Amino acid sequence: MRCVICGGLDIKDKEVEEEIKVGNDIVIVPVNVKVCMGCGERYYDRETMKMLEVVEEKIEKKQLKFELLGNVLKVKVSGVK
Ligand SMILES: [Zn+2]
Repeated sequence: MRCVICGGLDIKDKEVEEEIKVGNDIVIVPVNVKVCMGCGERYYDRETMKMLEVVEEKIEKKQLKFELLGNVLKVKVSGVK
């Protein structure tokens, strides 16, 4: 695939930390996405998008456990998919 932003072809699978804002908190969710090495654009596949939606929903319903990392919360996503 080719990056739609910069046209680059160097796109790699990478684990990144997605930030979801919940009220005054920031929740960090580790996700595997494709990242353009040229401009840093992230490409989410359908499964990842869905997983993030589920995580967000569960955060709102307070169904997930968090680890406190300084001022941010890190969610454990194992078992979410
Ligand atoms: Zn790019």
